[in-house]
Amino acid sequence: MFDKILIANRGEIALRVLRACKELGIATVAVHSTADAEAMHVRLADESVCIGPPPSKDSYLNIPALLAACEITGADAVHPGYGFLSENARFAEILAEHNLGFIGPKAEHIRLMGDKIEAKRTAKRLGIPVVPGSDGAIDNVDEAMKVAKAIGFPVLVKAAAGGGGRGMKVAQTADDLALAISTAGNEAKSAFGDASVYLEKYLQKPRHIEIQVLGDGRGGAIHLGERDCSLQRRHQKVWEEGPSPVLTAEARARIGETCAKAMREMKYLGVGTVEFLYEDGEFYFIEMNTRIQVEHPVTEAITGIDLVLEQIRVANGGDLPATQDQITISGHAIECRINAENPETFRPSPGKIQRYHPPGGLGVRIDSAVYQGYTIPPYYDSLVGKLIVHGKTRAECLMRLRRALDEIVVDGIETTLPLFRALVRDHDIIDGDYHIHWLEQYLSGVDRDR
Ligand code: ADP
Repeated sequence: MFDKILIANRGEIALRVLRACKELGIATVAVHSTADAEAMHVRLADESVCIGPPPSKDSYLNIPALLAACEITGADAVHPGYGFLSENARFAEILAEHNLGFIGPKAEHIRLMGDKIEAKRTAKRLGIPVVPGSDGAIDNVDEAMKVAKAIGFPVLVKAAAGGGGRGMKVAQTADDLALAISTAGNEAKSAFGDASVYLEKYLQKPRHIEIQVLGDGRGGAIHLGERDCSLQRRHQKVWEEGPSPVLTAEARARIGETCAKAMREMKYLGVGTVEFLYEDGEFYFIEMNTRIQVEHPVTEAITGIDLVLEQIRVANGGDLPATQDQITISGHAIECRINAENPETFRPSPGKIQRYHPPGGLGVRIDSAVYQGYTIPPYYDSLVGKLIVHGKTRAECLMRLRRALDEIVVDGIETTLPLFRALVRDHDIIDGDYHIHWLEQYLSGVDRDR
């Protein structure tokens, strides 16, 4: 087993990884920017190294500084968390060149899935159903028009290098297509340095359903059910739950096995998420994330499997924690991503947390790195913490979530807590009757008084 892991991240996920390492008896190294000297992950790690000034490109994305930190501390592996370098294939290769372990998939799989066009081709080849669209990048408007007419408007123009909902534009009709292509391409060029785009049928009211997979890198792989992440704002997930309120056990087993089989064929290593849109009983692959995801605790709650711990074990050559038959889904879990933002305008609200009281009790988990008196810096994402609630049924889970949301106190900054307190009492949410555009419609006041 690894002796010492360097955690190349910050915030709640750095703490999450640290906890798994402690349980496995592995020493931990925290890295931090000058803005994060007072952060909880730094306080709880066995050792810490300052790797640069506040901007991420100079600290958390600074590969030479991370290598130096490994050398100084004698770390033998790196856990990248999510975001930052977690899906950077070159980083995984550089670590290997320095005889350091990377807790994540093989570089070739990160690279493959990082290119959405290649990812879609691979998915198709492996028998995973995909969204109808262009077969690869589109080179000009005429060609795009042919594809769009064949699949039917509205269509979605998406960046091959996309991520975080950027580089995505809808063309409702043929008149909008040229503009959608140029705007998506320009956005992609400035965000990812790659302007290539492709076309997809724009689904009207799908749900976002994703399958959690885990592979041993030697041809063994299992799935751990799904998470429904349909409640989104600007293509960013806000609330995630599992199981999905709309999926039958048969549908879960079918799509889950399709994904697990694909992972076995690829000899996929580590945790991954195969993301789908789901409409009228059909699944459509959109992308695969080759890392631990923010919403992984939902799956941990309903399967009892510690995904980060297993991720470390398989990266070290260990076996899968269970066979597919041994995986059972029990109860229901919901995660709320609590952000330091105004709950109506979503303007970031960094600053000092004057009072902090996390909720507790049966079935309530908080994954957060904040504490009373902590100042949320303005340089990074605005996640304050994740509240994950588990119950025997969805109704019990909602009941507990309502109670936990009423109990939690985060004062001194604005947070999205009021939004969750309203959502958890909304009839559509209580009925599980929502799709990927529901939240934006709700926020814009459409049908608000129903
Ligand atoms: P990113 O990598 O930027 O997160 P994804 O491909 O995962 O992009 O898509 C993010 C979200 O955008 C989805 O969860 C969904 O809400 C929306 N989306 C993506 N593709 C489509 C599509 N073909 N039709 C409708 N909505 C889509």
